[in-house]
Amino acid sequence: QQDDLAALVQKAGEMLSQKWDESSLLSEETILQALENNWVVPYFQPKVNFTTMRVESVEALARIVLPGEVNAVRPCRFLPTVMKAGLIDSLTGRILDVAAKEFSTIKGMLGDDVKLGLNLSPDELENLSLAGIIEAVWQQHGHRNSELILELTEEEAIQNNRQLECLNRLRLKDFGLSLDDFGTGFTNINQLRNLPYTEVKIDRSLIINIHRDSFCQAIVTSLADIASQLNITLVAEGIEHISELNFLVQKYPNLVLQGYLISMPRPTATLAAWYRSWQRQFGATSDSMPQD
Ligand code: C2E
Ligand code: MG
Ligand code: MG
Ligand code: MG
Repeated sequence: QQDDLAALVQKAGEMLSQKWDESSLLSEETILQALENNWVVPYFQPKVNFTTMRVESVEALARIVLPGEVNAVRPCRFLPTVMKAGLIDSLTGRILDVAAKEFSTIKGMLGDDVKLGLNLSPDELENLSLAGIIEAVWQQHGHRNSELILELTEEEAIQNNRQLECLNRLRLKDFGLSLDDFGTGFTNINQLRNLPYTEVKIDRSLIINIHRDSFCQAIVTSLADIASQLNITLVAEGIEHISELNFLVQKYPNLVLQGYLISMPRPTATLAAWYRSWQRQFGATSDSMPQD
């Protein structure tokens, strides 16, 4: 029986590691097919404020929904190939197009002042016409530039003058700019002085167990201070546990929160039902915050 158990554990281990195995990457051929057949779609994950009970924005996250598959494929299984094959412009184009199309419905569900977050990879900032291209698509659907936030990960920080120029052009057009995964890269706080960011997203690694980690608390407290003085929206990403949520809501009432505990990334059609249940669960008074 012990042998059976050992075999089972080994099998489970193999299945888990397979998730990150090269073999689980979608092929370039499949990705091209997905782009052609509109199997590439955005899911949306809300960023919320528990003090005002408002949905501040929804982040568009790319998924590939293969025919006959129940689970949508996440970016870790296709982004590396997309980048290598030079398909990132097509991917962004497709996500932006669908997201722009669905954004009117989203506003109808979540409120007129909700914004949309779109992830860009730094490669795309090499193209100086980017701001114009995004604006054309966005406005074609009747939206205002101030309603779109462009998220850039800190990890692959802005490296050259062309990327900087591109960011400035986006900001001059009144798009929001978000510094994503803050705390994972080598960027120092000076990025906030030199680059026109309107939002900072604190990486999940600084949020995990924050209620009992005084190092992370110190960082978030100073970031909250800096953000309020610079008029930057501060977001905490990757909230999975109620003890993290309770701590953050009580200590940082202006913080915008995002994570599986609040909502998984989801298709537009399910946002209205999610919003109602979120309001039902957390609305009313702050006394109704669930305890551990
Ligand atoms: P990101 O922009 O930092 O997005 C956050 C990621 O964390 C998403 O993974 C999201 O599903 C996941 N997440 C959200 N809440 C939680 C949580 O509570 N716990 C944990 N463990 N994870 C959580 P996803 O959708 O797999 O995307 C991964 C990354 O791929 C994104 O990181 C972003 O950098 C990139 N990406 C996604 N969509 C696009 C896109 O359309 N264009 C580009 N260029 N990059 C994209
Ligand atoms: Mg992001
Ligand atoms: Mg992030
Ligand atoms: Mg990330």
